[in-house]
Amino acid sequence: MTSETAPPNLRHPEKAHRKDNESARKPSWIRVKAPSSEGYWKTRSVIQEHGLSTVCQEAGCPNVGECWSQGHATMMIMGETCTRACSFCNVATGKPDALDPFEPAKVADAVAKLRLEHVVITSVDRDDLDDGGAEHIAQTIRAIRRKHPASTIEVLTPDFLRKDGALERVVAARPDVFNHNLETVPGLYPGVRPGARYFHSLRLLQRVKELDPSMFTKSGIMVGMGETRNQVHQVMDDMRSADVDFLTIGQYLQPTKKHHPVIEFITPEAFGAFEKTAYTKGFLMVSASPLTRSSYHAGDDFRQLRAARLANNG
Ligand code: SF4
Repeated sequence: MTSETAPPNLRHPEKAHRKDNESARKPSWIRVKAPSSEGYWKTRSVIQEHGLSTVCQEAGCPNVGECWSQGHATMMIMGETCTRACSFCNVATGKPDALDPFEPAKVADAVAKLRLEHVVITSVDRDDLDDGGAEHIAQTIRAIRRKHPASTIEVLTPDFLRKDGALERVVAARPDVFNHNLETVPGLYPGVRPGARYFHSLRLLQRVKELDPSMFTKSGIMVGMGETRNQVHQVMDDMRSADVDFLTIGQYLQPTKKHHPVIEFITPEAFGAFEKTAYTKGFLMVSASPLTRSSYHAGDDFRQLRAARLANNG
């Protein structure tokens, strides 16, 4: 086949046969400014220079202008190809490449160069690896600790489904915050997160606390995917019974027509009500707003989280 007749390299081959879901027009409270600041370009050049991937770019995050202008980027390790095919996610699906053994050092270098006070490391799902990539994540945490000990470290991990011992490896590397997103309410899992299991993810968060009660745990969901308010409240209760400290709730935005449709744009007032309810349920920290993402303002939030624990214990 010549290059003219070859099919385009599909980013989401598993979604190609799906019907188009028209993208709903975004309300005024979702609009963000195009990135342009000096800080944005500096962050971008450090990322490029080190050959790193970020979830900010891969997921088409609306906050990239604001976060990068403050030197805050979320590194995505273990490649740009995911073994899962969640219907909300814009990261490419397929067979990933082998791990880059130099990646932990490259990430640590970039963290030092950007002088990050708080770094968020996430990854694609690597169901193809025996440990789901747990050792690589642990190595990255250790490399950052060596190169830039001033940084606090947050990991946003895959669910390590059917990877015995993987979670324990990551916890043993002692990140400051262990984040794993439930993403949505259990009733929507078959359509939204088909490769995952709600109670496995919940149990993963609970297990982190059992292994190290001093570690902060964090989890998030997207709303506007067709869930009800009561279902969101139930997820809050489930997270609290797993001892989750920090909850994030943000508006789901549809990356392409082939992705899960936006069913509803949740108003800022309704986000405010979620935040209030979540605090009454006992979370140490809650971030709920249309543009909230797991890693949005993560550094400031971490400082508040630490202060909230001190205040509770004091
Ligand atoms: S919210 Fe997170 S993913 Fe989005 S730009 Fe900021 S750091 Fe990146």
